[in-house]
Amino acid sequence: MLESPEIQRELHLLGRAARILEMEGHGDLTLGHVSMRDPDGRGLWMKRATLGLGEVTGNDFVLIDFDGNVIGGNGPRHNEWPIHSEIMLARPDVNFVGHTHAFYVVLMSCIADDLHPYTHAGIWLEGPPPRYTETSELITTREMGASVAKTLGKSRTMLIRNHGCAFVGKSIPELCAAGNFLNEACRLHVTLAQMGVKTVWPDEAEAARKLKMLQDPGLLEAYWQYYSRKLARIE
Ligand SMILES: [Zn+2]
Repeated sequence: MLESPEIQRELHLLGRAARILEMEGHGDLTLGHVSMRDPDGRGLWMKRATLGLGEVTGNDFVLIDFDGNVIGGNGPRHNEWPIHSEIMLARPDVNFVGHTHAFYVVLMSCIADDLHPYTHAGIWLEGPPPRYTETSELITTREMGASVAKTLGKSRTMLIRNHGCAFVGKSIPELCAAGNFLNEACRLHVTLAQMGVKTVWPDEAEAARKLKMLQDPGLLEAYWQYYSRKLARIE
């Protein structure tokens, strides 16, 4: 079945988002995935298995229902589909979900401390990302996915212990920013921890003022255009 031009266009952009995430440090072999809520209410479009994030195009998505049945698209389905479906069921405000094993995120997921908001990246996350600590194994059942979604709560990002992260967006630029800002905030935290120095970070009032500036609605689109140009130079 041929999908609507709107869906094809969005999947084309979501494929670019996957490649941007790999460019910015989210790649791990063929692991990690991004997904989009189906605008026709059939379920969600998820990156297909056996490809790395950096290889994904608009033709590399499978349509699954909320029980994980493949009902459209091409290729094999990732086993960790319940992360995506259960977050979308729990969060009607979310249209896009990502799950990756970004290197610095994985390091942070092994550290017991909360992530500190050292700079704009951490402040934009609006509080330390919640942590799913039940297991580090693959999230392969609806029950496990529901528990991940419950841990995420109303946040944009979360850590999954000894494994990776999940992040969400209303739009593709927001999804991209959430994944990349989380990774950057983790990179700063892990690097400073490694240096073994005494550290400081903005207090609540200062962080709130900075957050207000970071919430300028034009910024997400500007970041998306920047990432797109950077990717185009590489490709
Ligand atoms: Zn995983």
